[in-house]
Order: sequence, then structure tokens, then C-alpha cells
Amino acid sequence: MTSEAPAFDTHPYYRTPCSTSQLTAALGKRRARETRRHYPNGLTLADLALEQAIDADNFPLLDGAWGPKNTPIAVAADFGLRLTDLVISNGVARGFIGEDEARQKYVTIGRHHSEWRAICNADTLRMHHQNRVFVLSEMPEAFGLPVLWEIGYSLGDLNLGSGPEAFSRRTTAEDAVEMVTAPFNPAQVAALSEWQMGATAVRCGKTGCALTEQPVLTASASGLTCPRCGATRSWAWRAMIGEA
Ligand SMILES: [Zn+2]
Repeated sequence: MTSEAPAFDTHPYYRTPCSTSQLTAALGKRRARETRRHYPNGLTLADLALEQAIDADNFPLLDGAWGPKNTPIAVAADFGLRLTDLVISNGVARGFIGEDEARQKYVTIGRHHSEWRAICNADTLRMHHQNRVFVLSEMPEAFGLPVLWEIGYSLGDLNLGSGPEAFSRRTTAEDAVEMVTAPFNPAQVAALSEWQMGATAVRCGKTGCALTEQPVLTASASGLTCPRCGATRSWAWRAMIGEA
């Protein structure tokens, strides 16, 4: 347990205090009062983002293979428990922790779901957040979202990688989903324009356009832009520009 834990909480919200008026404006008076009890030392804007997810029973979580997924709180908490156990079992594989000690820490491994189902709740998700099992993504706008969560690491040397080389890396919105971001070069713009003439063209899903014929976005160096409302998406899947 000697090496320094990498900082996965790089989003500026982790260092920005949340004022009482911000909290009340976001959650209403009653929920704001309840929420403050969970944070005796005060909230950051990252904590507020978590509480808003709890309030909405929706934790938007980046799935490395499929992109963002709307995740109910119980499902997210369940997933966090499994991730934490994976971190511990990786610690066993790497000799940082003994098998007996690990067995005492496991919540999900070797146990029936009924044994931990009752703790798949907001309190457990708050604990995951404290341990940075989940962290705020710095690139939610890549998916047109105001807030997106990613899987982080936890507990010092114990992490999600099974080898030390994985220690300082995590799957991020940027690299996990095989996307390219604007500015696009001329060859990419040409490829995207061709793609947009096809049956799987990306269309505008913004409020106002979503209910219409959904205009096909126009490719340019600065991104994919809606000809009707002007909304610009600054990324494309690699497959769209012919890169697997
Ligand atoms: Zn539009």
C-alpha cells in the first residue's frame, strides 16, 4: 500500500463547494435539509450531482462498450458493490491482500444476491461516491449530457486493473467508446458527409427537433450540426469515418 492513489476525481466539481441556496434551488427545501445531514462537512458540486441522481432515481453511467446508460439507483449501487469486490479480488491476485481477509470483505462474491440486495440503495451509492468507485466524467457533453458518471478506482493500491500497469489508467468517455472528436480534418468531414447520406445518418434529437422529421446533421470541421436548430455534436463514432 505504498504507491500514491491516482486522482480520478479530476472534474472541477469535486473542488467546488455547493452553497445552501444552490442545494435548495436544486432539490427543494425539504430534500435539501435531509441531504445536508449526510454531509456534516458540507457538500461539493460533485456531491450535489450525486444527490440529484438519487433524487431522480437515475445515475447516468458510462458503459465502456455501449456508451451512457440510464441506471436506477438500486442497480448502480449493486454494480458498485460488485466492482468493489472485483477490486478486492484483484488485490488478492496481486498479493496485496490475503484470501481470508478478502473473504471477510466481500459483499457479493460467494454470497447469494438476497444477502446484499437490501443495501443496494442511496446510502451505498453515497459510499461508492466517497470511495470514488464512480466519478464524474469530464466529457459529458460528448454525449450531449449535462452529467455523466464513469467507473473510477478505489482503496489505494487496490484497483480495477489486475496488473500494476493498469493502475494509473481508467476507462474514460474519451477512449472507451471509440469516438473521434472535432475538429475533424477534411478527409474525416468527407467520410462523415458520405455517412450522413446513408440510412444510419445521425439526426438531431434535441427538444424541438426530436418531435419533427429529425433533421440529418451536417458534417463540418467543427462537428455535426443541425441545420434547423444549430445544435452541434462534437464527436462521431470511429466507424463513421471508416476507422474500425
Ligand atoms: Zn436540431
